[in-house]
Amino acid sequence: MKISTIPYRLKLNYPFKISDFERIDTPIVFIKIEQDSHTAWGECSMPPYLGETIESSIEFSNKVDVSVISNLNLSDQISYIDSLSSNNNAIKAAYDIALHDLYTKKNNIKLSKYFNIEESLMPDTSFTIGIDSLEVIKEKLIDAEPFNRIKVKLGTEADRDIIKLIRRYTDKEIIVDANRGWINKEDALKMIDWLSTKKCLLVEQPMPIDAIDDMVWLKEKSNLPLFADESCKRYDDIEKIKDCFHGINIKLMKSTGLAEAYKMINKARTLSLKVMIGCMSESSVGILAAASLAPLCDYADLDSVWMVSNNPFQTPTLINGKLKLPDIVGIGYQIRENFIDL
Ligand code: MG
Repeated sequence: MKISTIPYRLKLNYPFKISDFERIDTPIVFIKIEQDSHTAWGECSMPPYLGETIESSIEFSNKVDVSVISNLNLSDQISYIDSLSSNNNAIKAAYDIALHDLYTKKNNIKLSKYFNIEESLMPDTSFTIGIDSLEVIKEKLIDAEPFNRIKVKLGTEADRDIIKLIRRYTDKEIIVDANRGWINKEDALKMIDWLSTKKCLLVEQPMPIDAIDDMVWLKEKSNLPLFADESCKRYDDIEKIKDCFHGINIKLMKSTGLAEAYKMINKARTLSLKVMIGCMSESSVGILAAASLAPLCDYADLDSVWMVSNNPFQTPTLINGKLKLPDIVGIGYQIRENFIDL
């Protein structure tokens, strides 16, 4: 077995802006595993605010002992990777994704088959409209044409204006992501009441992570379902936040990958929580890996491949607003010809 750690930067079509900070790309690390005649890929995406970097990923990779991992079964490989540090969730996900890709390729099956997924249950994927000028928002709405649902980032003074603006151009269903931006629970409730009259489906992460009591209060009164994003990273978080939210947004980069994401979906179901599967800025490797679990979820937010300009892998197919899982063994990505030497 040979493992390569490949740093990369995914360029964003539109700069990502928050207050005085602007980002034009996202650091990525690909993990490429070669064994026998198989080549498997995994990836991690590391938006700076999450604390992981290309350097921390390489440092983590240096701890991985190939002679140990090559002699373990898939589930022990995942446990071994998780045991190497107490955090590093994104780079752990890169290994988990590559190891699932390798296992399913060796067994000549699609990843969705490994998880016993009914592909026809694929939910719509939402398309994110980031905050920008009126002109740019109009352009982004054109990019959103093939999608049935849009996701809007709120949590600023301009929240109502943004929704009113979007409603001038489209009546597509809206998923709201407040990104911890609402500080006062009464104001949050008023905003949720108003959003519920604007064809909004749910609100993600309305308040800060530590606003536990406020969230319990808000969950009781909210007439829109509330979903945890930053408040729920790994399996053990679900029990802690179950009284604060109606659902959770699972992302492979938070959950350390597919194995734990699958367990999280099942755990959420036993607690009657709804499930969304989301993403960071990821190439087709991460998006198709997550899409393989999406038919088990109520919502999918797997849009990053339509927001970057240098994805080394072909863009997945979208049919009627839903991702189509390719009929290819493993995760199902296809590398573009000019990236074959990556
Ligand atoms: Mg979010």
